[in-house]
Amino acid sequence: MRKNIVAGNWKMNTLLEDGVELASNINDALKSRKSNCDVVICVPATHLVPVNAVIENGILGLGAENCSEHEQGAYTGEISAAMVASTGARYCILGHSERRQYFGENNEQLLAKTKLALANGLTPIFCVGEVLEQRENGTYNDVVRSQIEALFSLDAEDFAKIIVAYEPVWAIGTGKTATADQAQDMHSNIRRAIASKYGEEIADNTSILYGGSCKPSNARELFSKPDVDGGLIGGAALKADSFMGIIEAFD
Ligand code: PEP
Repeated sequence: MRKNIVAGNWKMNTLLEDGVELASNINDALKSRKSNCDVVICVPATHLVPVNAVIENGILGLGAENCSEHEQGAYTGEISAAMVASTGARYCILGHSERRQYFGENNEQLLAKTKLALANGLTPIFCVGEVLEQRENGTYNDVVRSQIEALFSLDAEDFAKIIVAYEPVWAIGTGKTATADQAQDMHSNIRRAIASKYGEEIADNTSILYGGSCKPSNARELFSKPDVDGGLIGGAALKADSFMGIIEAFD
């Protein structure tokens, strides 16, 4: 069966000392209570090594927020999937809407990044989602389907390792959450698209997370939907209390 997962996306937030303290607080909070989901924090690249030193295997997973589409070499400022893996991180967010929008990441680059992440033993958290205009003009299902289809040249064994995150761009950081029914509809469409390419078993086993202004007050309703297997959390992941409040939605 697929896993329930709550993953934090810290984005470009927290200086090193604060980030290490936040990770340590989340780790301690998880140790003192049993959670009914896997928990991951995806942190700025500068924080990966020191955060890894204060979290415990089996309690809290660690991920990066991006990796390069190139294997290695003359790409100043880039961080390769192998470098991410060498820090002890096991996950990598790929295709976040901020990367697509501000850094022009396209399907071809995202496929290359996904292949390198997988080749280096990282689990991609692959983000898809429509912008407001596409929600309003009714093209959102086609848009998201084509974003997920960008990975369909992967073989089944590789695709089965991916976590999908549906994040409607109009809901990210805006305080405007998709309704639980809107999320369920899209998650079930994504699962159907995966089933049509890779079969029911892989589709059933793929964790599909919802992201976009998810918080303790709405997480329980969102996560109660059959195809919503947890959340990718931005703002509410930056405080141990609110992040834990979302994790508790699985209690
Ligand atoms: C995100 O950026 O992945 C996200 C879901 O942000 P927020 O929770 O702040 O909307």
